Amino acid sequence: MQKKTGILTSSILLGGFALAQFPETVTAKVSEVAEKNVVQEMVNQLSLEKYKATIKELTKFGDRRQGTERNRDALDWIEAELKSFGYTNTRRHSYEFPTKQVLPRRRQILQPGYAVGGGRQRGWKAPTGVTRNPSAQKDKHLRKLNTPQSEPGLREQVYCTKIGTTRPQEMYIVGAHMDGIGWGEAANDDGSGTALVMELARVFADPRIQTECSVRFVLWNNEESGLNGSRAYVHDRAALQGIEDPPGSGNFPEPKWLGMIQHDMMLFDHGMPRKDGTLNPEQRLEADVNIEFQMESKFSLQSQKLAWAFQRANERYATDYPATVGSHMTNTDSASFMDAVASISLRENERGTQVGNGWSPHWHQPSDLYSTYSDKDFQLGLNAAQTTLAAVAKLAGAGI
Ligand SMILES: [Zn+2]
Repeated sequence: MQKKTGILTSSILLGGFALAQFPETVTAKVSEVAEKNVVQEMVNQLSLEKYKATIKELTKFGDRRQGTERNRDALDWIEAELKSFGYTNTRRHSYEFPTKQVLPRRRQILQPGYAVGGGRQRGWKAPTGVTRNPSAQKDKHLRKLNTPQSEPGLREQVYCTKIGTTRPQEMYIVGAHMDGIGWGEAANDDGSGTALVMELARVFADPRIQTECSVRFVLWNNEESGLNGSRAYVHDRAALQGIEDPPGSGNFPEPKWLGMIQHDMMLFDHGMPRKDGTLNPEQRLEADVNIEFQMESKFSLQSQKLAWAFQRANERYATDYPATVGSHMTNTDSASFMDAVASISLRENERGTQVGNGWSPHWHQPSDLYSTYSDKDFQLGLNAAQTTLAAVAKLAGAGI
């Protein structure tokens, strides 16, 4: 009888959230439900139509090549969008390019048969490269738009920050690069990642949602010239981490980095090219989101832990496509952070052995156009957005 009374008391108390009364397993289940509701509600704010619409807007600026007017116009548009979501703290980080900064760059010595990033190449390797021939772009309007070439000088990249309520001095960084190359629209590389970051910024901007720590949304510039925008950011801002400025203000211009999550090429996983160079015309049924960390980085253990947290978030919240964790992160802006903080990248394929072997045939090509991709392709990008949104919401302690 006593036992029964106990259960009755507990279920009445449940309404008042007197969870201390419950055995640990029940408490864990209840808090899981509470977390799921907030995270799920945030994930529900994403939609294929909104994600596609943002990519489409970005492609209006052509390839958005760094050091051109079309790149600066795209940056202005991105900043205006972030402001329209409600952010009053959009900022621009500026630097000169070409740069004289002396941030050490790791040189990778490749073994024969191994790809950049450290993975061993297997299977058929189709040729890849950057299209530099204007006449390869058959669309006259796009060819004209992409004609002005990059000029040296001032560069800018934009970010906004969701300020944490209990730990504003710490943050996760969610990034993608807004510049592109190759005489197309840079729709996949990296309009798809840029739109993902903007969509997450929109969801986190909701004033009803609060996070314990801060989350910064950054759109890097100069990725295609050698990660120069993110490298300049690390060079200029690493030493500012966690400093309250002015002292006593509660204002932290550069909260301490907890993790850096990069998104670069999110749409196209049609499998390995065939020997005649052709590919499966449809998204392959086994398509996945590739989450990579770099085994040869100072923060490999922390990065690996972060990668698995993302894999778990994908398992629970991504609607269609699973995630795979790999250890060969390379050639994207998270590499600029990997010796300073836990760093991962999300991508359609593994960068080294897959993208590098020709699995992404529109990579740096005039065919990287919005019209090239189908809804099944865009859906893979949306699944990556669901993954990062859920993982970051959980890590940052999101609540309503
Ligand atoms: Zn890229």
